[in-house]
Amino acid sequence: MPLATAYNPVDSMKYVVVTGGVLSGLGKGVTASSIGVLLKSAGLRVTAVKIDPYLNTDAGTMSPFEHGEVFVLDDGGEVDLDLGNYERFLDISLTKDNDITTGKVYDSVIQRERRGDYLGKTVQVIPHVTDEIQNWIERVSHIPSDGNGKSPDACVIELGGTVGDIESAPFIEALRQFQFRVGKENICFVHVSLIPVMGPVGEQKTKPTQHTVKDLRGLGINPDMLVCRSKSPLVDDTRDKIAAFCHVSPDEVISAHDVSNIYQVPIMMDGQGVTNLLGSKLGFKVPEERKILDDWKEMANHVDFLESAEEVHIALAGKYTDLSDAYLSVIKALQHASFRVDRKLVIDWIESSELDDETKNSNPEKYDSAWSVLKKADGILVPGGFGIRGIEGKIKAAEYARKNGIPYLGVCLGLQVATIEFCRNVLSLENANSTEFEKDTENPVVIFMPEISKTHMGGTMRLGSKPTPFLRECKIKKLYGGVEFVDERHRHRYEVNPDLIEKIEHAGLIFVGKDDSGERCEIMELENHPYYVGTQYHPEFKSRPSRPSPPFLGLLMAASGLKI
Ligand code: GLN
Repeated sequence: MPLATAYNPVDSMKYVVVTGGVLSGLGKGVTASSIGVLLKSAGLRVTAVKIDPYLNTDAGTMSPFEHGEVFVLDDGGEVDLDLGNYERFLDISLTKDNDITTGKVYDSVIQRERRGDYLGKTVQVIPHVTDEIQNWIERVSHIPSDGNGKSPDACVIELGGTVGDIESAPFIEALRQFQFRVGKENICFVHVSLIPVMGPVGEQKTKPTQHTVKDLRGLGINPDMLVCRSKSPLVDDTRDKIAAFCHVSPDEVISAHDVSNIYQVPIMMDGQGVTNLLGSKLGFKVPEERKILDDWKEMANHVDFLESAEEVHIALAGKYTDLSDAYLSVIKALQHASFRVDRKLVIDWIESSELDDETKNSNPEKYDSAWSVLKKADGILVPGGFGIRGIEGKIKAAEYARKNGIPYLGVCLGLQVATIEFCRNVLSLENANSTEFEKDTENPVVIFMPEISKTHMGGTMRLGSKPTPFLRECKIKKLYGGVEFVDERHRHRYEVNPDLIEKIEHAGLIFVGKDDSGERCEIMELENHPYYVGTQYHPEFKSRPSRPSPPFLGLLMAASGLKI
């Protein structure tokens, strides 16, 4: 077996700044993560910073409808989903400070002002806010993130939004100044742009890119590399034209055309010399042997190969089903598990409210079609969520899985609805419910946790990584490799009512893992069922392409007919 890519230390921290132009949603996050993979393949320790120019101090109070999922970190940070991309691509664990927002920066500046740190000076965007941003980036870039406890060698910084936005102006200015602070030989600017294809012959248009680069240069930043998103590979003429108008050489114009799967992106970039360009710009040698990249290629090709493999259908009964970004980490965790069982994953999205009796009466066709999708699935997943909409449908989905021996995984809310269902239908606790959905329910099966704030929403849930010891041998413990306890990430306000646990367990739904106080239910597993598991935590956040999350792997194994 070849050795892992050899560590290739550098003399000082290297920064790669990724900005974007023309429009949002061009895949800046994937570009930035892929650059991270290439730096890592050259033997550098890599970390990442995401800058979100909005005013919220974190993503915790933001609707998944608008912003996609809220990603949760070990330290309980509720952050932008791009941090999930970094963690998965680079196999690192970040902190809440790796996500910088305008709100956080101003909060810190205002606190300093109140402490008198500015010695009576007028506090201004330049230099106080821009200094704060630079200090923040420098500080965070040194936080160890790969589990070795060592400071990283390189930091990829992604600036959200598009260049020219009012909101991002202080960040652009801070980054402009930053190149002088850290030295130009230690920083590389990558700008992601769009090349639209127009007309009957499919001409690749460069004007939007010319304009966005002009904007960026007008703000004092010369890009070292342009990553051009387009449907098809850039032709030489397009590349030459961009080079001529954008003050870069043709080999610094990178074609980021559509590829078969996202794991091919680093490979596509490496094939165009991106790693060597980064090496010559930042002063590190690219080793001949790059095991990390070889592994990455193997994985990308395996994912392509699975396109023609046998399908496994997982019904996802959720609330934001027309917006898959709202469940990004869940989708990724399912995908990672499908790579391991060698099946082509098909997610059948079900709007859970369509499974309930109300829809049965108001729109029987919709109801029937939702049920027929659910019944055809090889496995059922109920993800996390908040609020009452769709709850009764989720309870029905859990009931169907329990009664028919269909593999089921309930994440957070998915554990809670499975417990409610069990109490209603097995323990005959009529109208059993969560106090989240019915405040004065006569049978409170899921209750508000005592330590949670009743008045404040932001950052007040039970958040982040907490240990869960296993209390007995069970399938889920086996899936985790027989470990004594797991450390997974949480984000919830409610819990299974501890007063009911004995009764529930007596009837066969066992809480095989509790928190270290021994009181709070964390993992449930139903006896005499192929796979019926719920976790109060969110295992999806720690899933990695080469290390699928065990509860998700269990679901995919059971759904594919494999024995656990
Ligand atoms: N709404 C539930 C709670 O707060 C579940 C949360 C979740 O699924 N993340 O406990």
